[in-house]
Amino acid sequence: MELTYKCLECGYIYNCHGQCKDPPDKCPDCGASKENFVEVEED
Ligand SMILES: [Zn+2]
Repeated sequence: MELTYKCLECGYIYNCHGQCKDPPDKCPDCGASKENFVEVEED
């Protein structure tokens, strides 16, 4: 199981492979701020 972050604006998945505890400062795809990211757990 891996923790990833999903952008609510565009659906971009930010997967840091367990290396991070926070979403990116902004979405690299649509530029939304990190408040727009939600944590998602994937197998
Ligand atoms: Zn986005």
